[in-house]
Amino acid sequence: MERVISGIRPTGNLHLGNYFGAVKSFVKMQDEYDCMFFIADWHSLTTHPTPENIRNSVKTILSEYLACGIDPEKAPIYVQSDVKQVLELYLYLNMNAYLGELERVTSFKEKVRKQPDNVNAGLLTYPCLMAADILMHKADKVPVGKDQEQNMEMARLFARRFNRIYGVEYFKEPASFHFADKAVKVPGLDGTGKMGKSEGNCLYLCDDEKTVTKKIMRAVTDQGPTQLNQEKPEVIQNLFTLCELLSGKEAAEYYNDLYNRMEIRYGDMKKQMAADANALLAPIREKIIAYANDDALLERIMRQGAEKAAARAEKTIEEVREIIGFRKI
Ligand code: AMP
Repeated sequence: MERVISGIRPTGNLHLGNYFGAVKSFVKMQDEYDCMFFIADWHSLTTHPTPENIRNSVKTILSEYLACGIDPEKAPIYVQSDVKQVLELYLYLNMNAYLGELERVTSFKEKVRKQPDNVNAGLLTYPCLMAADILMHKADKVPVGKDQEQNMEMARLFARRFNRIYGVEYFKEPASFHFADKAVKVPGLDGTGKMGKSEGNCLYLCDDEKTVTKKIMRAVTDQGPTQLNQEKPEVIQNLFTLCELLSGKEAAEYYNDLYNRMEIRYGDMKKQMAADANALLAPIREKIIAYANDDALLERIMRQGAEKAAARAEKTIEEVREIIGFRKI
């Protein structure tokens, strides 16, 4: 079975965009691949979170992934900082990564522009840590968004370079898995093209029923169509996309007919969307709360995940040490 590894950024709560755009695909992938997920808490240090931030965000994201249906028996979930072998591989990869190529990475250049006061070495060597996470497990495929594609190219480059320097065929080049291209783009509630944390236009999986209803009822619309069969402006098209995701194709077509006949009442459409959103989210929300309140269970899941990941990682590190010329320890 092909191996898939995917890092999860421990930043804030999951929203509907994450759910339809990524997490639902992960839940499906765990039946089709030998999957592992890890919470990338070392990566998050580039933004200098407080200890409190780290503890809470790891727990939150783990509870939310589990509530969405990631089954740790099928797809172990581990916390990156629990698998210390990754650091050793990170060090080796750093030795063969060159300043020029790291400085040319687009996401690094963007960070330099956006946060000139915090251009730390961790940001520069981010592709080395990401490559260590992936190569450690000899992953065949890595689900990534477009923003990570260049880092994936670096991972492949580092794998090739290591093999060339030591004259071995050891690391395999991981392929990018662009399921996100096929996945829907979930629009924001403000009518803009994309739901996203930083846009403040999200429906979060943990939002309570009242909040869900309020947010959907306030979703941006216009005055309504002024002509029969009128082409929809972007905000309305976005509302229909959300409607199809939440209420299904048939419901979206029903409201589409009303729109074309100039009989649509956005309030009615939103009421149905809110009811369907709550039906979808209520069981997920309940599970999020149950997991978040069960520290012992979360701890057990994290430990089991770490044990499985560390067993693989240890084997890789032993082999890598031997290839490099270090003694067995
Ligand atoms: P982020 O929370 O922005 O780091 O997003 C994590 C992943 O969730 C992305 O790589 C996408 O696969 C997915 N995602 C986030 N926002 C959306 C959205 N509005 N529509 C579809 N997918 C999304």
